[in-house]
Amino acid sequence: MFAALRRWRRRRAADRMQISSDQWHRVETGLPFLDYLPPEERPRLRRMALEFLADKEIHGAEGLVLDDDILLSIALQACLPVLHIGLDVYADWVGIVVYPGDFVIPRSIADEDGVVHEYDDEVLGEAWEGGPVLLSWFEPGEAVEGVNVVIHEFAHKLDMGNGEVDGYPALPAHMPAAEWAGAFKPAYEDFCLRVDRDEDTGFDPYAAEDPGEFFAVMSETFFEAPRLLKTGYPAVYDQLARYYGQDPAARA
Ligand SMILES: [Zn+2]
Repeated sequence: MFAALRRWRRRRAADRMQISSDQWHRVETGLPFLDYLPPEERPRLRRMALEFLADKEIHGAEGLVLDDDILLSIALQACLPVLHIGLDVYADWVGIVVYPGDFVIPRSIADEDGVVHEYDDEVLGEAWEGGPVLLSWFEPGEAVEGVNVVIHEFAHKLDMGNGEVDGYPALPAHMPAAEWAGAFKPAYEDFCLRVDRDEDTGFDPYAAEDPGEFFAVMSETFFEAPRLLKTGYPAVYDQLARYYGQDPAARA
């Protein structure tokens, strides 16, 4: 019942938001990969973005003022992956904190002697299970090509839907887990070998960190540079196309 109530509230709040077509165009121009989505699906993405904004609490950190363009841009990118999965998959948390550029998270780690070491970790984003998503914001044009912090962190959120971040999100009933593993495992192993050899793969080498990062980076590439993924790791592309219910390479 609460889920239905929440859905009704976010729809009602989205109904009240007025975004001019000029503003949509301005924001979407900064996100050229949205053109890989069939044009008839754009209204659905825009509508979902408004419901996303109605449902989430987004705050700027370190003095970053979040104007409507930034909010719309984050919402469009967060909703693109779940356009066919549905917004309810993001229902177990509300907070998003946005930093100007990369930011530092203080961490501590205990070694085998029990000595705690403290250090600063410079990151572009982080997603906490059941908690907020932290993102860095780059002005359009400032962002590193092929890197999409928003899609990356929201892919981690999808991955967490069934427990830890391990590169295995909750799959729909028509997708056998064995096929997912059969595509991702050999691709990940191949990728790690290529990164070890210092090969320029075209993909963010951070994907070699662990299978969870591999899934998040491959998801970024799926939406931002789909042909690169389809050529490099066709079986991974195929699984992501089925999981996300989209085929961006067809229009790239
Ligand atoms: Zn990550």
